[in-house]
Amino acid sequence: MIRSRSSLVLVTVDCLRADHCGFLGYAHPTTPFLDTLAPESWVFRNAIVAGVPTYYSLPSILASRYPLALGRDVVGLAPDEPTLVSVLKEEGYATACFAAANPYVSRQFGYDHAFDTFRDFFDAESNCTPRSVHPPEDENNLRSRANRKLDQLCHRLGLGPIYAELYFQYCQRLAERTNQPLKSLRPFPTADIIVDHARDWLAARDGQPFFLWLHLMDTHSPYYPMPENAENMGNGSVTPSQARYLNACWNRNDLGSRRLRRRRESVVKLYDAGICWVDTQVARLVEILRQLKSWDNCCFALTADHGEEFLEHDGRYHAPSKLTEELIRVPLVLRIPGAQPRLVNSPFSLLHLAPTVLDALSTPIPNAFYGTSYCRQIEAQEDWHAPALIECIFDCKNPFSLQSRMGSRLLAVRDRQYKLVIDFNRGHEHLFDLETDPNERAPLPQNTAAQTRRGLLKIAHAHVESSLAERNSRLRLDSLLQDVKRSVTSRPPLTTFDGITAPTGACR
Ligand SMILES: [Zn+2]
Repeated sequence: MIRSRSSLVLVTVDCLRADHCGFLGYAHPTTPFLDTLAPESWVFRNAIVAGVPTYYSLPSILASRYPLALGRDVVGLAPDEPTLVSVLKEEGYATACFAAANPYVSRQFGYDHAFDTFRDFFDAESNCTPRSVHPPEDENNLRSRANRKLDQLCHRLGLGPIYAELYFQYCQRLAERTNQPLKSLRPFPTADIIVDHARDWLAARDGQPFFLWLHLMDTHSPYYPMPENAENMGNGSVTPSQARYLNACWNRNDLGSRRLRRRRESVVKLYDAGICWVDTQVARLVEILRQLKSWDNCCFALTADHGEEFLEHDGRYHAPSKLTEELIRVPLVLRIPGAQPRLVNSPFSLLHLAPTVLDALSTPIPNAFYGTSYCRQIEAQEDWHAPALIECIFDCKNPFSLQSRMGSRLLAVRDRQYKLVIDFNRGHEHLFDLETDPNERAPLPQNTAAQTRRGLLKIAHAHVESSLAERNSRLRLDSLLQDVKRSVTSRPPLTTFDGITAPTGACR
């Protein structure tokens, strides 16, 4: 491996599941470019996030810190917290981030720290307001009041489901009349826009090493892919109204999983088409780096903040109410110039990504990092047995709300074969054997695998204890002060779409 002052490009793809990538065995052609990059890279077959969703995952990727290490009430990065970015900045790197309008990858949550250029697309120039699938309603107009009365009456008469269906179809007809193009339905800047910004920034470099971070949202719901990608995934030519109808159906909370399942395959195709677009744009980014003669001396990492569920456990999207494999197992490709390619099978927590990358760049690793470098083991092709720990606050869907943040911890300890999930909210723990039950259909009976269960429980216990005993009180206090500032300056959340709550007016 060339341990030199290589530049670093990190791409995080929101909601990208490991098992939907070609180089990790997916049968559909979602990642043709990454499939060609994988044979010259370190490919991690069991890369595991440290938390779900974005706001519980990113602190581990950037700051190598467990999501709840500064306390349940702390979300985002602490001011001046040592991160991959701050270390490289101190080492003389130029730094830039282009993040596609995810409210939790924003200045508000401290992600701009140590970046020379930080663009989260929550500014007046960006046109990325999340749009509701329901027509806007004035709550007090005559039609709305009549509608509410009718709703109440239907529910009293036991006709609630019929009313819900009629109202849904009515909303869809109204939406169809607007005849919006697909482009205008997407709430986030697409990957081509993010890569365009990266290209302009890269073109202005003058030979100084750089760290470039892109956060892409094309795989996040609502799923509105590029039409050409949708055709590749077997959807034929998906029209805007078809895509909108599918997304609207998928978003319904009044449908049982049996009815949702009828749409599942079509929705997954839309999601896969989004992956395909990301792959195309990553290929374009690499080509830009080649043209600028930066690629040969560039370390490149691509991963995700969490996965996405498509009814595997009767759920959709990625709310922190479970820690199943489709939510915690993500792709990780790490291409290091001069390093021999490796296929890594041992569980690798993304907590270790920043120290491993810094080690590959011959850069000091901050003592504050919880993770460690695995460069030596990977180069030596050694396996390891240390499990990955994953944690979040159960059902915290709106981290802007302090009340939502103060729920109970959901914690998983996952090694190569077993996963222990401890639900402090419901007071139970479940042990899964991922070799015999990879889909986590049924936990092992309580009286089996006692030694394994004890071992994983001990690790979980030590983790919870250390997260209290080793808490950095300065970072915690600074975070709480930042939180007070945020609550004063930001407007309350408006639109909730599957686990992401966008702040009102934050994105115009
Ligand atoms: Zn996310």
